[in-house]
Amino acid sequence: MRLLRAAAAVALGPGPLPWVPAALGWRGKQINWKVCRWCSSGMIPNEKIRNIGISAHIDSGKTTLTERVLYYTGRIAKMHEVKGKDGVGAVMDSMELERQRGITIQSAATYTMWKDVNINIIDTPGHVDFTIEVERALRVLDGAVLVLCAVGGVQCQTMTVNRQMKRYNVPFLTFINKLDRVGSSPARALQQMRSKLSQNAAFMQIPIGLEGDFKGVIDLIEERAIYFDGDFGQVVRYEEIPAEFRAAAADHRQELIECVANSDEELGEMFLEEKIPSNSDLKLAIRRATLTRSFTPVFLGSALKNKGVQPLLDAVLEYLPNPAEVQNYAIFNQENDSKEKILMNSKRDNSHPFVGLAFKLEAGRFGQLTYVRNYQGELKKGDTIFNTRTRKKVRVQRLVRMHADMMEDVEEVYAGDICALFGIDCASGDTFTNKDNSGLSMESIHVPDPVISVAMKPSHKNDLEKFSKGISRFTREDPTFKVHFDTESKETIVSGMGELHLEIYAQRMEREYGCPCTTGKPKVAFRETITAPVPFEFTHKKQSGGAGQFGKVIGVLEPLDPENYIKLEFSDETFGANVPKQFVPAVEKGFLDACEKGPLSGHKLSGLRFVLQDGAHHMVDSNEISFIRAGEGAVKQALANATVCIIEPVMSVEVIAPTEFQGPVIAGINRRHGVITGQDGIEDYFTLYADVPLNDMFGYSTELRSCTEGKGEYTMEYCRYQPCSPATQEDLINKYLEATGQLPIKKGKAKN
Ligand code: GDP
Repeated sequence: MRLLRAAAAVALGPGPLPWVPAALGWRGKQINWKVCRWCSSGMIPNEKIRNIGISAHIDSGKTTLTERVLYYTGRIAKMHEVKGKDGVGAVMDSMELERQRGITIQSAATYTMWKDVNINIIDTPGHVDFTIEVERALRVLDGAVLVLCAVGGVQCQTMTVNRQMKRYNVPFLTFINKLDRVGSSPARALQQMRSKLSQNAAFMQIPIGLEGDFKGVIDLIEERAIYFDGDFGQVVRYEEIPAEFRAAAADHRQELIECVANSDEELGEMFLEEKIPSNSDLKLAIRRATLTRSFTPVFLGSALKNKGVQPLLDAVLEYLPNPAEVQNYAIFNQENDSKEKILMNSKRDNSHPFVGLAFKLEAGRFGQLTYVRNYQGELKKGDTIFNTRTRKKVRVQRLVRMHADMMEDVEEVYAGDICALFGIDCASGDTFTNKDNSGLSMESIHVPDPVISVAMKPSHKNDLEKFSKGISRFTREDPTFKVHFDTESKETIVSGMGELHLEIYAQRMEREYGCPCTTGKPKVAFRETITAPVPFEFTHKKQSGGAGQFGKVIGVLEPLDPENYIKLEFSDETFGANVPKQFVPAVEKGFLDACEKGPLSGHKLSGLRFVLQDGAHHMVDSNEISFIRAGEGAVKQALANATVCIIEPVMSVEVIAPTEFQGPVIAGINRRHGVITGQDGIEDYFTLYADVPLNDMFGYSTELRSCTEGKGEYTMEYCRYQPCSPATQEDLINKYLEATGQLPIKKGKAKN
């Protein structure tokens, strides 16, 4: 393959385009498409690489934009509408299910080339239920494009994505899309970016017309108008700024300079000295400010109407970082439990050992495909690499680069590249190195805890094997999808980030594994916690013949802060050897075991810290099991003396509907015990923000549809845990007592 490519390159000679034709077979299809003659050769310097993600609220036009990007960069020969309108579907939507729903459920990595720069794009899903995919994408990318809809502006999911970008320190550009839509207002969207996302943002362009009149954009830096001609907007035409836009362009340019000067020292100084910055001064300042995340440049367009995409691509090259401009660290966990942060070297050669992170798994018909971001060194086909978690050795039989669901074989990749490996058994989030370096791991991805669960089983008994195959693959691919077997109800319980998340897996089970499933009623992940610290002093003693057991623990069981309501912490504050160090992990195990079931409603306990302060042991009778039992007993004793309460997940809900339905929508949210946190109005539509317990959200889509004549929409995402209302708590306790056959608490009030 490499030879073939080299030969083709020689035959073509040096030309303006680094693409050479190649015929590649994939899935039995012969595909004629172009291969970059630089790709897979170590020749590409870091400056010629961008790893970017495209993140947005659902329906903002990510898929359409990605499609346009692939078209203009020559990666695809034809454009398709999403949602399968032309029966083909967008190239990025590779799964059948996705084509049907028209939403990108799984991120697909693809690479392309714009003006000699190799761009790796990860199309990230917009729906809240698939947040983990967005998190993963952001973790491995160096920069992002945040897409907003010019009508919807900053929406609930935009805020989540904004938070995630902050967590992973990802610099980003903003693209306000759909300027052709009725009701579009880029100024409002920009205002919301400033007020709701607290971003120092400014226009890099202003529109020439809006809605049906949207013709092109004015570049505020170069001070020129840009139009997009040809059937697909492929011909970019530069003109003078039309007279009627000159004043507005000058004002906005000044505003842009002020915003950048506020966050960039060099430009700030020029501004104070009243020096006029050159265009290149300005661009460099914008680049510096974008990289430090103190500024986000805002671009405009309409992906559907083929306007504004090429300048956005130019901006990706101009303002987003290359892999050498981002600092990535690996964590080295030493044997004595101390951690060392190691800065990864971004040199694109083999002078440093290889370190890569498996950030996404996909099972295709040729086995498992593992997407890897290479952080350091070189990875070659035929190399043997180590999984630092399992300490297993694997050979890299095949190394590919992905383009939606097509692939290209490559011989080697370097730091900064994204590639995929074939047939490697691992979990997402695993780190690979080229020598046994088992203490090393790339910082792990932030995995939110599942908030909803449902019993799932194959509809036909004979499908059990297919069922477990599917489950094991899904859980390996998606850490927010969890499965356990409930020994009491004898049911398989799957948990995830929302009803849709679990529904998708039930459907994939049928489509991909031929195993139709039946699911039970979704259940919310309630938890139990305590309201104030309680001390404990518990001795476990057993002397019924044979070897005895003895273990004593003293300490405090404390509640954690509300933001840690779903965590359990253990802290060893003992001095001396009353509780010998080798038994401390046993006490922790006892604590964790005891937290599996709370006393009030049988739900797990969380939001607790077990502080071990002292204790006692016996020279002969103390062993591991004694201290496990002591830990368990201590929790039970403390709970008996504590005020226990039930906590529940609360969701941030955003409802958009025509203003005429405002009354019924607010009443509905109130009925569901929602706390309204804000309201917005855009022309005939209003947006309602509320925090509502997840337990009260069941059936909301049907209700919203019926009370808004089908015109209302809503999204929700997990926000936090908080104590349930007394009524919900009583209800849960009653149900638990009835289910466990204990005396039911009398319903209704007793007469005085
Ligand atoms: P995603 O969910 O963010 O991937 O959004 P899609 O790309 O699937 O687009 C959602 C819908 O918006 C589709 O019906 C698109 O045709 C439409 N759309 C995308 N971009 C534009 C645009 O620039 N203008 C208009 N009017 N519609 C658009």
